[in-house]
Parts: sequence; C-alpha cells; structure tokens
Amino acid sequence: MSWKLTKYELDNASLLVNESLLSLGNGYLGVRGNFEEGYPEGYKSIRGTYINAFHDETEITYGEKLYGFPETQQKVLNIVDAQTVKIYVEGELFSLFEGEVLSFERNLHLDEGFSERIVHWVSPNGKEVKIHFRRLVSFVTKELFAIDIVVEPITPVDRVEIVSTVNGDVTNFVDKDDPRVASGHAKRLHITEVRQDGEVGIIKATTYQTKLETACISSSRMTAEKHEYSSSQTDYSIEETYTCYGNEPMHFFICNIFTDTLRHGKHPIDEGIILLRQVQDKDFDELLAEQKAYLDKFWAISDIVIDGDQLVQESIRFNLYQLLQSVGKDPASNIAAKGLSGEGYEGHYFWDTEIYIFPVFLMTNPEIAKNLLLHRYSILEHAKERAKELGHEKGALFPWRTITGTESSAYFPAGTAQYHISADIAYSYIQYYLATREEDFMKRYMAEVLFETARLWADTGHLQNGLFRIDDVTGPDEYTCIVNNNYYTNVLAKHNLLWAVKIYYLLQEEDEDHLKQLSSRLELTETEVNNWQIAGDNMYLPYDETLGINAQDDSFLQKGKWDLKNTPREKFPLLLNYHPLTLYRYQVLKQADTVLAHFLLEDEQDFDTIKNSYDYYEAITTHDSSLSSCVHSIMASKLGYSEKASSYFNETVRLDLDNTHKNTKDGLHMANMGGTWLGIVSGFGGLRLKESGLALSPVLPAEWNSYEFHVRYQGRMLKVHKNRESTVYTLLSGADLEITHEGEPLFLESGKEIVV
Ligand code: BGC
Repeated sequence: MSWKLTKYELDNASLLVNESLLSLGNGYLGVRGNFEEGYPEGYKSIRGTYINAFHDETEITYGEKLYGFPETQQKVLNIVDAQTVKIYVEGELFSLFEGEVLSFERNLHLDEGFSERIVHWVSPNGKEVKIHFRRLVSFVTKELFAIDIVVEPITPVDRVEIVSTVNGDVTNFVDKDDPRVASGHAKRLHITEVRQDGEVGIIKATTYQTKLETACISSSRMTAEKHEYSSSQTDYSIEETYTCYGNEPMHFFICNIFTDTLRHGKHPIDEGIILLRQVQDKDFDELLAEQKAYLDKFWAISDIVIDGDQLVQESIRFNLYQLLQSVGKDPASNIAAKGLSGEGYEGHYFWDTEIYIFPVFLMTNPEIAKNLLLHRYSILEHAKERAKELGHEKGALFPWRTITGTESSAYFPAGTAQYHISADIAYSYIQYYLATREEDFMKRYMAEVLFETARLWADTGHLQNGLFRIDDVTGPDEYTCIVNNNYYTNVLAKHNLLWAVKIYYLLQEEDEDHLKQLSSRLELTETEVNNWQIAGDNMYLPYDETLGINAQDDSFLQKGKWDLKNTPREKFPLLLNYHPLTLYRYQVLKQADTVLAHFLLEDEQDFDTIKNSYDYYEAITTHDSSLSSCVHSIMASKLGYSEKASSYFNETVRLDLDNTHKNTKDGLHMANMGGTWLGIVSGFGGLRLKESGLALSPVLPAEWNSYEFHVRYQGRMLKVHKNRESTVYTLLSGADLEITHEGEPLFLESGKEIVV
C-alpha cells in the first residue's frame, strides 16, 4: 500500500517510535501520534504538540565558561495538550491494553493527510464497540488540529461517556544520557488563563523566559441524539464530558486552534477565536476534502513513482510527506532537524536545511525553498553580531544550531566551529538563483548574504605563500574537530567568495544604483571585493599526491586509523561510547565530509581524485550520523558503483521506518529524508544544477523497472522517466530548454517528449 503507512504494534518500544512516524504537522503545528486515551501505567510516551519556533530560552551552565560562549540556548516547547479523549463504555475505560482487542490498526494517509485508528474492542465486562479515531493537522488553516471519533456499539450499551481534556500542565521530554536530546529544563510554560466562553474552551500559556504566549481554543460537539453535556475546569485544564445514551453510533468532533505571539500579534486568544469561527462549522470530511485538494497539488509535482520496489515506493512517499509536514512556511520558521515530529535537537535548525532539505523544495516547490532563505535572511543581523563576538571585524557567521538566530550550541568544537554553515547558506542562495533566475530576489537578499558571508571567509583565512588558508574550523564530520584547511570548508568558502564577486560585478552592470546603495549601507568597497577574488582564486584545497585524494584537512592523513573492523557493534554510534578527544585522534568519520564536497562542487576536482577519495573515506566512515549514507549513495551512483549506490540508498530510505538509528522516538531525521529524494534525483538521476544549466545522467538501479520524477527549473516543469531501455524527458510547461544529458547537450521542446 504505497499511500498509506499501517501499524499494528502495541508494545511500548514500537508505540514510542510510532508516535514519531504517525505524527501530523503542517510546518507550523505538529502533533505526535499519541493515543488519545494514553497508555497504561509503566509505559513511556513522549506526548507532544509543538509550534515551529515557539520556544523558551534557558541559561547554559558551564563548568568553565570562556569568552564568547553562548549564554543561553533555545528550546522548542511542548505546548497545551489537546489530544486527550477518554471513552467509558458503561463505566469501563476504553484501553487497547484491557479487555479483548478483536481488531486494531492505525494508518497514516499520505494522499489525504490524516491519521486514523480503527478498533474493534470488547470491554472486560463483555461490551463490544467499534471505535474509529481520525485526526488531522490542516494544511489549509495552519492553526487547526481536529479529532473526530465515532463510537459504534455492537452489543447493547446503555451509556457511553466521552471525556475530552485540554491540558496546559505539560513538560518537555528530557534524557540526560543522550546528547541528541535535551538534558534538563523540562517545564518552561506556565498557564496564564483558563476559561470557558460558552462551549469554547480557552487556555493561554506563557513561556518562562521569552514571555512568548500561545493559546489553545477548542470547541467540540457530539451528534448522538440523546446526550448530556457537562464541563469543568481546573487551574490548568478544561474537561468536557458527553454522556450518550442509546445504541446509535456516537460522533464526537473537536476543533483545536493553536495561536502564538510570534505570528498572531499580541492577542492570540482573540485571533484564535476568529480562526475557530471560520472552521468550526465544517465537519471532518469537509476538512479532509480541503486537505486532499492541497495534497493533490503537492503530489502532482513532488511524487516520485518507482516501479519494481513497493517498499521503496512507500518509503519515499512517506519521507516527502513528512518533509512537507515539517517545513516552515511562514517567515518565523525554518525546518528543525526532527521537524515537528519530536524533541530531539530541541527544535533547532542546522545546516541540514540548506544541504539536505532545501534542494528538495527548490526543485519541486520553490516558494517553500524561498521561505527557508528568507528565514536565514531574517537572522542575518544576529549572524553579523556573532561574527564580531568571534573576533571578526566584518562578516556574518551563522549559528550552528538555532531557532531565533543566536547560537544555541554549547559545545563549540562541533558547534560554532562548523563555520561551513555560512558557506552552506550561501551555496543554497546560489542554487536558488540558478534554479529560478529571480533577479529581484538576488538584488534584495542574495547579494547581501553573499557579501557578508564572503567577508567572513576573507577575515577568517589568510594568505600564506600565495595560498589562502582557513585555520581552526570543523568540517561536517563531527569526529574530526578544529582543524586547519578542511577541504569541505575551503572549497565551499571559495565558491562563496567567487560568487560574491560575480554578483557584485553583475549588479554593477545591471543595476549600479542598487549596488551603490547596498555598498554604502554595508560600507563595502571594491578593494574588499578584489580581496575576495584573490582569496577565492588562491584557496588552498588540500591534496595528497601519494593517495591521489583530497585530504580531509591538513593533519587528517597523519593520524592513526580507527580499527572499525574490531569495534564491537554495541559501541556504535561511537559518540555515545568514546570521549570526543579519543575520536578526534583517529582517522574515523561520523559522516560524509570530503565526499559531500565532491557532490556539491564536483567540477573542482577530476574524476580520479573524486573516485580515489570516495574509496579512501568510505572505508573509514561509520555513518553514525543519519546525514551520511545518502551522500555515499549519490556519489556511488556517480562513480558507477551501482550495488553500493543501491545499498546506501536502501539504508537511507528506511532509516526512520525501520528505526535503524534507534532514536526515531525522538523525532524523524529530516535531513536523511531529504537525502532520500537526493539519492534518487541527484544520485540515480544524476541531476546537477550548475551555472551552465541543468545536467542529468539517469541510471536505473538493478532492482527497479523504472522511476519517474518532476523538477521545476526557471519557470518550467520537466518530467524525467527512466526505464530499462531509455530516458524519457517531457518538458510539460515553460519555454524550450537545452539540458545536458550524460555530458552531451540535449534540446527539449516545450510540450514534447524526447526519448534518449
Ligand atoms: C550531525 C550534524 C547534524 C545534526 C543535526 C549531527 O549528528 O553530525 O551534521 O547537523 O546531527 O541533524
């Protein structure tokens, strides 16, 4: 079933994972797939509802705090819980863990945008009912989370009570033994208002430190003919009870609106009530119809169709769907490492956005990609301040992990030192420009971001013996920290610098007035731009003559090799079992580093260097980070290692569905999900977006019969179909286009199908 994810498990470990897998969201609001009635005592659950970027700040306590260490960090908060509904059948509480479960399944519908639980249950006293739970987080009204429940008595039942609770007494999940999860500050939200206005329940809460407010406005209804209603409230919750009589099916429906002061002005309650009025008369099926219409449009462009592997088909759709559910679509938000599906990495935005997720949206839904760039632009001033804190005279150093734009990483060797994030952001701006040629966007946003990031490199590096060197930074591989001349960082910085120069002169030619204004605002001189040119042209890119590879950094190849073969399985991921310093002393990689640079900027090296480097680094890479296997799949495709390409791809595509990293309970791995799309489109499809245009070199994995995807490019829509015999390009809309197919030019006529 490729449009539906179905689950039957009831053991605690699977339930926890399924809370992430069956989570619902829309980029603004996210709700984990918890059971409305909860689990029995002794079961663990991470019960969570989140608003993207809705956060509190906490003080970072250091044993030894040095200059420039961030003082506070941000954390996305678990907000008011509106998921709780308990059902009593003649006084017996419905639970899948009591009585007899005649049948049970839960589904996530990727084409319709809702989840459901279908239950046939006999209570301990022998009362038989069917219960159908459905819930959605709307793509159309982003503040809306609705639950619809139908209870159908099978044996005669005198009375059913449905008790729904909206509860503000919530905490975040903490785990002090896992650095990927918050270790403290579980409670950061306090209730400031609880009231009922007719049948509308209202709870408002405020964060401890940032004083952000969120409101939950709920309204429920019951369609059973004979029923009584009562409600009550405490200091932190509102409870509504519908007592129903008779044996007709009982239909309960609750609309919850979540607002916040980041997006809804100073009066989130008033705003929430207005929104509630707009939706509360709709029934669940009407909401579903809206949801379906939205998703039809999404899938028409974004779907990837695979013939020959049902499991991969299901997985790629699942991944794309979860990306859509998590990606921020308003200016206040980006996409967190775990999206809106869990609390791992505390709702922070990383370089994951630019390198792994942004490309998916860029080529399918560029308006969403643009929002991600605008969000980064909105934190540019913070990045400039941070650069100053780090001793730079000028430039922008983007935070390694953040929500608001300030650095939230307390461990600088694998945090702030990852300067490459600034070049990654510049890279994504350049990709956006290449894919859209939006001149206006380039002038208003891109130029400034490129100039400020170029300044960072000019100030961080230095010329020595004619080579521009960048010392003491950390590349993507977090098992190797604070090194000189990390190849990845240097080559991306070079790209950043030279593009900044290019855009400067382009503006000079095309819109001198604008350039003058911008230069005067930024106090930018042509001498500075010349220095960027010199730095870029002379960038030192470490290369080892003997091995014929790019060295990951200046000292990497001198280190001893970690004995991966004799490291027991239970010692992985290494980061949970070895002190960082131990790891730093060896040639061992957490994730693709030079190999990733060879994917992003392949024209910087010849084929042999890329191949030798892949062979070398692959042997010492643990893939302990979920950002790694996809890159190895893409590069294996490029190098013609087809079996490896498929095997790394399979690791990528099922990572969350099979919980292979054992932490899916903390949320889904968004970068890896983007990596799945990249594995197909850039890996098997060979797609590259370059200044010279769009290039493709499709190959077909041996196990598949065909695959098909769409890309949007400079106002056009291109369909690419690869089967055993041929590649078929159809330029569905937009002007004629010349692309590169397997290194040769290929002319595509609008509306025509070309078979190669
Ligand atoms: C990876 C980083 C990544 C972060 C968030 C870490 O384990 O090493 O590259 O940005 O997770 O996904």
